[in-house]
Amino acid sequence: YDDRDGYIWMDGTLVDWRDANVHILTHALHYASSVFEGERCYNGKIFKSREHSARLLESGNLLDMPIPYTVDEIEAAKTEVLEANGLKDAYVRAIAWRGAGEDMGVAAKRNKVRLAIACWEWGAYYGDAKMQGAKLDISKWKRPSPETIPHAAKAAGLYMICTMSKHAAEAKGCSDAMMYDYRGYVAEATGANIFFVKDGEVHTPLPDAILNGITRQTVIAMLQGMGITVHERYIEAHELETFSECWLTGTAAEVTPVGQIGDYHFQVGQMTREVAETYEKLVRA
Ligand code: PMP
Repeated sequence: YDDRDGYIWMDGTLVDWRDANVHILTHALHYASSVFEGERCYNGKIFKSREHSARLLESGNLLDMPIPYTVDEIEAAKTEVLEANGLKDAYVRAIAWRGAGEDMGVAAKRNKVRLAIACWEWGAYYGDAKMQGAKLDISKWKRPSPETIPHAAKAAGLYMICTMSKHAAEAKGCSDAMMYDYRGYVAEATGANIFFVKDGEVHTPLPDAILNGITRQTVIAMLQGMGITVHERYIEAHELETFSECWLTGTAAEVTPVGQIGDYHFQVGQMTREVAETYEKLVRA
């Protein structure tokens, strides 16, 4: 991704794509002082744009690295970088990090918090698996306790076990991995939230140890609007065999049906299809 034509917004100006670099002694690279957002622009409009900008600022606050921009400034920067790259349908990646500077130890309050925004074309996250039902591995890594990490932040450090889980999954021919949390409850995939169907009702994990995804919240509201009961609750491992349908939600994943998790199988059923189609219409409305 580093060798392309185009522009990246960096600390207030557009820079040539290939020049959007940082110093090797960047604090974030050593100590994971970095938070980011993944957003999708549909027909020239970023879905839930302000919510993403607000979550970015909140993630920065949760990591004790306030980002020196307002939601309005971030909104303007996103518009600027999309226009500069001539993109109307794109994935948008905002990233804030503690830079290089005065300090090289763990504490680095004097090093400035920086912000960059890039965008590019990005199709279906799970490729061909998208409507046939993705195959998920079960990760050996558990989502950590909220006493261990700030789980509500979309922070780079939380993705270390996600990358390892997804690499292990892909080595087994799976598209992704489902992770349990530290208590053994069903948590989420490595970059998406998870939903299940049983007897016409929907069940999804409580967001007390996972990222409460913007897509997750959108889909819950959508389901409720469709008159479908949604249970946000603890889901135990042995319950996986009791569910008939399963899907993932996320900005990149959108609504992706799941066909298999480990040895458990699910149908790409009526409800999954309806939710995927309704979401598709909503983001383009
Ligand atoms: N969980 C994790 C770990 C994620 O990385 C993402 C993607 N941001 C999600 C859930 C879904 O969040 P959203 O719907 O806000 O994209």
